[in-house]
Amino acid sequence: MKKITALLLFSLSTITLNAQAFIQSYQDRVNLLKKEDIISNLKEFEKLGIKTTGSLENENALKWIKEKYLSFGYSEDQIEEDPFSVGRLKSKNLIITKKGTVYPDKYVIICGHFDSINGPGVNDNGSGTSIMLETAKILKDISTEYSIKFIHFSGEEQGLYGSRHFANEVVFQNKTRQIDIKMVFNLDQVGGKKGMFNDTVFCDEDQGGSSKNNAASTQITKELMTCTTLYSPLQAKTDPAEHSDYISFEKKGEIITGFFEYLRSDLPHTADDTFANTDVMYVFNIGKATIGALQHFAVANK
Ligand SMILES: [Zn+2]
Repeated sequence: MKKITALLLFSLSTITLNAQAFIQSYQDRVNLLKKEDIISNLKEFEKLGIKTTGSLENENALKWIKEKYLSFGYSEDQIEEDPFSVGRLKSKNLIITKKGTVYPDKYVIICGHFDSINGPGVNDNGSGTSIMLETAKILKDISTEYSIKFIHFSGEEQGLYGSRHFANEVVFQNKTRQIDIKMVFNLDQVGGKKGMFNDTVFCDEDQGGSSKNNAASTQITKELMTCTTLYSPLQAKTDPAEHSDYISFEKKGEIITGFFEYLRSDLPHTADDTFANTDVMYVFNIGKATIGALQHFAVANK
C-alpha cells in the first residue's frame, strides 16, 4: 500500500512538473508589483537624460540603478561594477548577485541594457530596466534553488559591448569557464506602442548561431510563454532572438530567451522615446510575466 502511494505521488509530481502548473505563491508575489512603482521608475529614468555609453548621463544612470538596489536592502557585497572599454570608450555594467539555496554555483541571468542613444530611451530600455528593478525588489527575500544575477548592461546600442565583455571576459577567463550559467533571460524594449492595444508579447527564441543550443532555447521559451499566460493577462508569441544582449551569450553557447514588444514602436533611438509615448500598462503586465517566469526559472520556494 505504502509503495503504491509513493509511486502514485511520484507520478503525480512528475506530471505536475511537466505541465508547469500554476503556483499560487508565485502569483501572490506577482501581485505585489505596483503600477505606480513602474511609473516612477520610468519617469526617473527619463529624467536621467540621454544615456549614451561613455557619457556622464550613462554613469548617473548606473548610479541610480545601484542606489535602487541598496534601497531595496541588497548589500554592497552583492553589487559589482563591471568596467569595460572598447577603443577609447569606457563604461560599466552593473551586476547584482542573489545566491541560490540548492545550486548556489549555477546562475539564472536576467539582463537588460540601460544605455540609450539620441533620446532618454524610456521604452528602449527603461522598460526592461524598471521591470528588473521591481522584480529584484519583490524577490529580495524569497529563496530560490538557483542563484540569480541581475545584470544591467551598458554599450548595447553601439554593438552589445557590455554584454560581449561580460560573456567573453567575465564568464570566461583564460578560456576557462568562471560562471556556470543555467540560462539567460533578456528584457529589451517592452514599452509597447502608446495608443495601440498591446495585449501580446514576443518571447524570443534562439533560431540562429550554433544549432546545438537552439533546442534548449525552444524549451525555455515555451516555458516563458506558459509563465506569461499563467501570471499575466498577456498573450505570448515567439520570434527569433536578435539584436540584443542575449546574442553575446548565444555566441558562447549559452541558452537564451527574452521578451520584446509585439507591436513594435518606431520611436526607440529618437528623442521621442519618452514616458509620454510608453504604454505603462503594458510594461506593468510584462513585469508580472517576468516575476512569474523568474521564479519558475530560478525555482523559487513555493
Ligand atoms: Zn534596446
